[in-house]
Amino acid sequence: MAGSADFDLYRPAEEHDMLRESVRSLAEAKILPFAAAVDEESRFPQEALDALVASDLHAVHVPETYGGAGADALATVIVIEEVARVCASSSLIPAVNKLGSLPVILSGSEELKAKYLGPLAKGDAMFSYALSEPDAGSDAAGMKTRAVRDGDFWVLNGVKRWITNAGVSEYYTVMAVTDPEKRSKGISAFVVEKGDEGVSFGAPEKKLGIKGSPTREVYLDNVRIPADRMIGAEGTGFATAMKTLDHTRITIAAQALGIAQGALDYAKGYVQERKQFGKPIGDFQGVQFMLADMAMKIEAARQLTYSAAAKSERVSAGGDKEDLTFFGAAAKCFASDVAMEVTTDAVQLLGGYGYTRDYPVERMMRDAKITQIYEGTNQVQRIVMARNLP
Ligand SMILES: Cc1cc2nc3c(=O)[nH]c(=O)nc-3n(C[C@H](O)[C@H](O)[C@H](O)COP(=O)(O)OP(=O)(O)OC[C@H]3O[C@@H](n4cnc5c(N)ncnc54)[C@H](O)[C@@H]3O)c2cc1C
Repeated sequence: MAGSADFDLYRPAEEHDMLRESVRSLAEAKILPFAAAVDEESRFPQEALDALVASDLHAVHVPETYGGAGADALATVIVIEEVARVCASSSLIPAVNKLGSLPVILSGSEELKAKYLGPLAKGDAMFSYALSEPDAGSDAAGMKTRAVRDGDFWVLNGVKRWITNAGVSEYYTVMAVTDPEKRSKGISAFVVEKGDEGVSFGAPEKKLGIKGSPTREVYLDNVRIPADRMIGAEGTGFATAMKTLDHTRITIAAQALGIAQGALDYAKGYVQERKQFGKPIGDFQGVQFMLADMAMKIEAARQLTYSAAAKSERVSAGGDKEDLTFFGAAAKCFASDVAMEVTTDAVQLLGGYGYTRDYPVERMMRDAKITQIYEGTNQVQRIVMARNLP
């Protein structure tokens, strides 16, 4: 897979098209058959993890230097999009592996990169991202988790909330306050391991959607870790956390895009089969106009998402004139709003059947909702965009 930044801004190169075809066939064969059960039973999609690891698609963003596939940002988006098209919960495996490990890639020491990215690339460990807390969501800088220096160690205490894949992941990027006087400039980032003494997890949250992706609290009770587990310099953790989100909001846009495409594809097939008034409902112009609007919105979201991915790639290659903060927020906000509209319309097109769990579109509608909430709500994305107008 390419690591090059000079691909066309709006149209994926041929290698990206080939990647899409191979991820789509893997997702349809190995992930789709379990998607309904994973949702129904609120269980981790182990089949998806196994299939993704076997094809080296579980953490494609890891650079080749550390044993990864070295996929560029657009290739990563395509993997997430195609997995989300059949199962949104499963798409959080490649997405959150990127979210959790990007702080290390962006700001970590060579030692941290060598130690933690190798097992991630091999599929021996997953990575989570622990920023949010019970009382610090949109205002993440208001966090209370504390890290106190003790000789060659840091001692962490606090509660992180809503942590995706918590309990399954081996590694956690944890943001904690090292200097309470300095607010966001007094926050540092650390790698915490699941096996570190004092780390434990809350019960899985009972959610509306993405039920296959465990969301749990992470408790840090006097967790004593070596000082070299700090990611970057003391006080830079919040900046690293925000820089990470500039890149990874694009992966949430990809997830939203995939969910929306899955819903459109299903509805497109259904309207040709379902007959009312003596003909397929797809023959009615009122239905055709809905499908046209759905496809139009998805394509607009795709263009914005791919364009943002191209910017992410160029920023990673050293570019500094890309308005990535605006584009990351815009892609996530726009694509997630589109996913909510399109999945709602897909349920509508299936009529009463769409409202039942016998068909996948109601799951897609429930799954779409989270994309408007996490990695910053869409109100927060609008604040971010307004502060970073291109
Ligand atoms: C399933 C799930 C998985 C998650 N995964 C992770 C994860 O892996 N790691 C992690 O760190 N976090 C994770 N999160 C946390 C997520 O990012 C937060 O839930 C989100 O940022 C919102 O924070 P909050 O829930 O505290 O809502 P609040 O901040 O309390 O917001 C409540 C409402 O107020 C609005 N609001 C708040 N401030 C403003 C403002 N200034 N202007 C306008 N409106 C505003 C919000 O938009 C929202 O509508 C996850 C959440 C969920 C539900």
